[in-house]
Amino acid sequence: MAILPIYTYDHPILRKRMAPVTEFNDELRELVASMIETMYNAEGIGLAANQVGRDMALTVIDISGSKEEDEEKKGGESKPLVLINPVIEAYSDEEESSEEGCLSLPDLRADVTRSIGVQVRFTDPDMKEITMEAEGLLARVVQHEIDHLHGRYFVERLSSIRRTMLRRQLMDIKRGDVEADYPLYRGE
Ligand code: ZN
Repeated sequence: MAILPIYTYDHPILRKRMAPVTEFNDELRELVASMIETMYNAEGIGLAANQVGRDMALTVIDISGSKEEDEEKKGGESKPLVLINPVIEAYSDEEESSEEGCLSLPDLRADVTRSIGVQVRFTDPDMKEITMEAEGLLARVVQHEIDHLHGRYFVERLSSIRRTMLRRQLMDIKRGDVEADYPLYRGE
């Protein structure tokens, strides 16, 4: 288990559609454990494999650390979700706008409109097929992370005017002119 450096905008692996996971072995479990540790260390609530430089359709999520979730559900064990080869099978018609951030886009926050509910099918690390209904913050994080696995950033869901306003900040991140409280990948 290790804290892995997080890849930032605009590394090519964050623009790629991730390859399906086919081997459920110890290496995969080790990577999952490291991704969870990396997510907690960065105080994130979701992390996709390409954000740590791995070309795999895999994401970890734990919204229990967020304020919104604390208010809804006091106490309780925190158990991270591990979504392997996730597919969103259905979206609610209703959408809402809420602020998002991203560990690959340090310090950048913006309101993103997304479906308030989704049905997602995935495999867990024990190779069990799971279909999950998610709502609210969890649905939002699921959509954000699966966007990553498709090579997409949340900023691409903003209006072009809004994106233009963030241009300077995006360019700074692209140049590596950015700091974070967690390790960033500084390579090519
Ligand atoms: Zn993100």
